[in-house]
Amino acid sequence: MMKTKIFIIGTGPYGISIANALYKKKIPFAIAGKMFSLWYDHTLDSMSIRSDWHSSEIYEADDRYNVKDFIYKNYPKDEAKKIMSHKLPIDVFRKYLKFIESDLKYPILSHHVTKLTKIENGFISELENGEKIESESVVIATGIEAHKHLPKSLQNLNSPNLIHTWEVHKYEHWKNKNVLMIGAGQSAGEGIVHLYDNNKITWLTRKEPVFFSEPLNLPTPIFKFTLHISPYFYFMPNWMRKKFGKIFVISTITPDLQEKTMSEKVTKVRADVEEIGLEIRGEKFFSKKLNQEFDGVVASTGYILNINNLKFVDTTLLNSIKVQDNFPLLDFDFQTNVKNLFIVGALSEPHYGPAQKFIMGTRHAAVRIAKWAEKN
Ligand SMILES: Cc1cc2nc3c(=O)[nH]c(=O)nc-3n(C[C@H](O)[C@H](O)[C@H](O)COP(=O)(O)OP(=O)(O)OC[C@H]3O[C@@H](n4cnc5c(N)ncnc54)[C@H](O)[C@@H]3O)c2cc1C
Repeated sequence: MMKTKIFIIGTGPYGISIANALYKKKIPFAIAGKMFSLWYDHTLDSMSIRSDWHSSEIYEADDRYNVKDFIYKNYPKDEAKKIMSHKLPIDVFRKYLKFIESDLKYPILSHHVTKLTKIENGFISELENGEKIESESVVIATGIEAHKHLPKSLQNLNSPNLIHTWEVHKYEHWKNKNVLMIGAGQSAGEGIVHLYDNNKITWLTRKEPVFFSEPLNLPTPIFKFTLHISPYFYFMPNWMRKKFGKIFVISTITPDLQEKTMSEKVTKVRADVEEIGLEIRGEKFFSKKLNQEFDGVVASTGYILNINNLKFVDTTLLNSIKVQDNFPLLDFDFQTNVKNLFIVGALSEPHYGPAQKFIMGTRHAAVRIAKWAEKN
């Protein structure tokens, strides 16, 4: 069995940034996951990433993964300038991630963890291929995949043509279909624009969609300032964190998607999905209230974060983690009350603020955990 000091579960921006920080400090670690899977397999090829280039960098202490340097090194000057003046197209961002992947100086175990258990002086993680890793500490950096949300009325519809936007590869090639798109967030907007030319789309939202360039409904300078200071949310009283947190839950769509999504070609319906009486009819879906048939339904219904969705964590261990509103209670080093067990990324948002939902939060998490590891 492999033994190490720190085992990182997850190879997204958080897992890799933390690994980079540990590598730099020569702290023994191992890391497992499917490399940058969200960005390679769960985003539409036609889209751009939403965050600005400077808040989309994977952390590395010597700034080896500076996005600007990467673009100027890999594209002719004029093209590089053009790329830098807009949001990064997903193919450019994927190329950047591939470069990082090829540059890593440590091995990646490219399997998911299926079981994490606590032992007396540490943890045992079991991988899909049966391999086991014993470690003194564990960092859970598994992102939002486990938290995909399907509203109740959709959970009972058993059809391959009901697809959550996480599974973009299942609907991105649809043609000549009558599609019901559900939800008012960025993924719905991107899905509509992607399917727009070749399909007939009905867009179901509970509220009028909000078009705004930042993921949070705040003017850009305030948004950036908020992200920068957000680790210090940790020191605010709980009621104040909750109050601020509410500002950040609103879903917005970038204005570049407004023209197509709001065009007359897209039929708008304002209702909750629970109200439209959606059922399966043969290979199709039928809404009693809308009196309309659909070939496919795309649930752009987001993610509801809850620590209990981490099914690979052994129940005894999971139950021993102290939580508040289904989020783990963490100290300033991202450590749970279970000694040497750390949780980063979106599940840490209530303590460290909104930056932890985005790539820009990786720096804070990586620096804190590497500092902790050096001392312990
Ligand atoms: C469609 C979409 C677009 C987004 N656009 C942006 C954007 O433009 N800018 C931005 O900053 N943020 C964006 N985000 C938010 C995004 O979640 C974060 O930016 C970032 O990817 C989070 O990094 P992470 O490492 O926490 O999670 P992820 O990137 O999701 O990585 C999770 C990793 O964990 C692995 N994993 C999962 N389960 C296991 C397991 N059991 N065992 C081992 N490994 C496991 C996965 O294989 C993956 O490697 C977007 C999110 C979505 C869904």
